[in-house]
Amino acid sequence: MASIVVVEDDLRIREMVSRVLADQGHDVESAGTAMAGLERIVKGVTDLVILDLGLPDLDGGELLTMVRAVSDVPIVVVTARSGDAEVIRILDAGADDYLVKPFTSGQLAARVRAVLRRGTGTTPEGPTVVGGLTLDRSAREAMLDGNPLDLSPKEFDMLFYLASHAGEVITKRDLLAEVWREPYGGSEGTIDVHLSWLRKKLGESAAEPRYLRTVYGVGVKLIDPEP
Ligand code: CA
Repeated sequence: MASIVVVEDDLRIREMVSRVLADQGHDVESAGTAMAGLERIVKGVTDLVILDLGLPDLDGGELLTMVRAVSDVPIVVVTARSGDAEVIRILDAGADDYLVKPFTSGQLAARVRAVLRRGTGTTPEGPTVVGGLTLDRSAREAMLDGNPLDLSPKEFDMLFYLASHAGEVITKRDLLAEVWREPYGGSEGTIDVHLSWLRKKLGESAAEPRYLRTVYGVGVKLIDPEP
């Protein structure tokens, strides 16, 4: 059973979708506007979102981008527009799948099953390894050259995010959005402070970097110092 939020302003479709999903044993909440939907999505533990693009208060595409900034929850978009450009836009904005109206209850049920199957991550996550750094996300354990690192939760999350994007330049804004869940707010100074703590724990400094490399004016990237 999954916890599903349905965001759709058309009452008839909203009821049909909610009923089909409830019949499959899911716990369904629904909303008729983008803002009410957003509130429900961020409020509880949501496993899947069914999102209509044509909403009265906000374009569903904008809502999709807002949700994506703070959450990896699977999203199935429902749209009346089936053009190639539209589908590409939806998937690029972070939707996991889409349904073109009108659709049958069978199609809806099948898409939801497929997306939930992908999302449950039945394969256990292995540790993320970069050089001598090993991060186990499920156990929240970090090791450097075989020695455990004593990291705060935010330090761990930040290091994990950087390590899983090793070699890529990550901006402070990315870190605020991904680690602090503050896509539109937060202070970049927070990132600087955590970076300096993290450097200290990794036994390096900005002047003598190893894993954490500052890219001036852009952000930071984590690399294997001895590839
Ligand atoms: Ca609509």
